[in-house]
Amino acid sequence: MRGSLASTADTRDHAVVIGASIAGLCAARVLSDFFGQVTIFERDELPGTPANRATVPQDRHLHMLMARGADEFDGLFPGLLKDMVAAGVPMLENRPDCIYFGAAGHVLGTGHTLRKEFTAYVPSRPHLEWQLRRRVLDIDNVEIVRRLVAEPRFEPARQRVTGILLAPRDDGDPEFQAADLVVDAAGRGTRLPVWLTQWGFQRPDEETVDIGINYASQQFRIPDGLLAEKVVVAGASHDQSLGLGMLCYEDGTWVITTFGVAHAKPPSTFPEMRALADRLLPARFTAALAQAEPVGSPVFHAFPASRWRRYDKLDRFPVGIIPFGDAVASFNPTFGQGMTMTSLQAGNLRRALEAADKNLAAEFARLTRKTTYPVWMMNAIGDITFHHGVTGPVPWWWRPSGALFDQFLGAAETNPVLAEWFLRRFSLLDSLYMIPPPSIVGRAIAHNLRLWLRERRQAVADRRQAVTALR
Ligand SMILES: Cc1cc2nc3c(=O)[nH]c(=O)nc-3n(C[C@H](O)[C@H](O)[C@H](O)COP(=O)(O)OP(=O)(O)OC[C@H]3O[C@@H](n4cnc5c(N)ncnc54)[C@H](O)[C@@H]3O)c2cc1C
Repeated sequence: MRGSLASTADTRDHAVVIGASIAGLCAARVLSDFFGQVTIFERDELPGTPANRATVPQDRHLHMLMARGADEFDGLFPGLLKDMVAAGVPMLENRPDCIYFGAAGHVLGTGHTLRKEFTAYVPSRPHLEWQLRRRVLDIDNVEIVRRLVAEPRFEPARQRVTGILLAPRDDGDPEFQAADLVVDAAGRGTRLPVWLTQWGFQRPDEETVDIGINYASQQFRIPDGLLAEKVVVAGASHDQSLGLGMLCYEDGTWVITTFGVAHAKPPSTFPEMRALADRLLPARFTAALAQAEPVGSPVFHAFPASRWRRYDKLDRFPVGIIPFGDAVASFNPTFGQGMTMTSLQAGNLRRALEAADKNLAAEFARLTRKTTYPVWMMNAIGDITFHHGVTGPVPWWWRPSGALFDQFLGAAETNPVLAEWFLRRFSLLDSLYMIPPPSIVGRAIAHNLRLWLRERRQAVADRRQAVTALR
């Protein structure tokens, strides 16, 4: 948003949030510190216990919570992680043996100890959302109202959004709700780009990576103690367009999500999912899955493209509204970063609101570009260089970067230091950039060189042995 004509919202009496999913709840939490009243409007029925929701169909599928996201959510809602653990959410504290992590055809060899603190949490998506929701409902100046937002109201004379129109309950007229700020947390399907053109602004450019992902998931139970792992990932790779993940949730049930990239079809029945697991995972998982009891039926989801709406590049933007969460950027779900990226946007929103002298929308867009860019870029490099048939813009340096990364991951299979570095960066800890420092690059080169020399020596020894045998 360069050279925006808009000025900072001056009054902070009432903020309105569209959508009470992860993004809307995080936004409301931050807004409650700056506005007298915050109202979230949500079209869906919100259950009083952890349960799937109709308008969030992705919540039936595996949702990984990155370690960074867990920290950020706990910062927003102190005590959240402690309560989740008390409710049975698995906590993996320095337990690499609880994670089986296959990425791009390589299985990380983290070994049994990590050098730095590493704690991961494995809540189901409905459980996490419910935990956030009940905390938001406890905030005095926040309320959640079940209503469909028809559209924001824009006042051309002031070039600003002045509130929202709620879809009529019966045959009546839409109701107006005034607001000093509207936060659009309506998810990927946001209509903000269309509204902008209706109000005389430009649509944001959209960066997309056409990954063509199809998900198929099934919940199941296995007898306790069969598997040490609570997180199992076998990502798709060069020669393998199918992948899978399995998580053990707070109530002891598991979910297996199988997926195909570049429009590959994942298995559609539980026996077929198990057959894929047989192919992609070591035998101990096959043995455990042989004892699995399915819970419910398989569910499916299509995710055609990762999408980043570049609000940060717009010259003009109305005052009084900002897009938030997936409405700005939605990432390849197989990397498990969406909720964590939303939690980072919450930090951006707080910083933008604190900078009262700056244009709120422009400042939020600028900060969100900084958190989105490194993760978006790394995902896009991974998608485009590792998967045949995935398309998107390809700067010249992506392919060599992808090839080098492949080498790096190869070394991380047997070098615990490299594996730990990757695990932490993948979890968005330490830095959002997946760029190894010289010490780590040097270690990877030395490791690969040692492996190569060992293989050469072995090949020479084998040849000598064969020649001796012939004589
Ligand atoms: C298949 C799949 C798997 C995923 N896996 C992971 C994962 O492993 N890890 C991870 O971190 N992230 C994952 N994600 C991403 C994650 O689900 C989102 O990043 C996260 O839910 C934040 O989204 P959101 O709150 O912006 O939007 P959504 O979750 O889509 O919610 C939007 C909300 O807005 C409401 N709404 C919309 N329009 C209106 C309206 N007009 N009026 C009132 N209410 C409205 C909807 O009812 C809904 O409640 C996955 C996504 C998908 C699709």
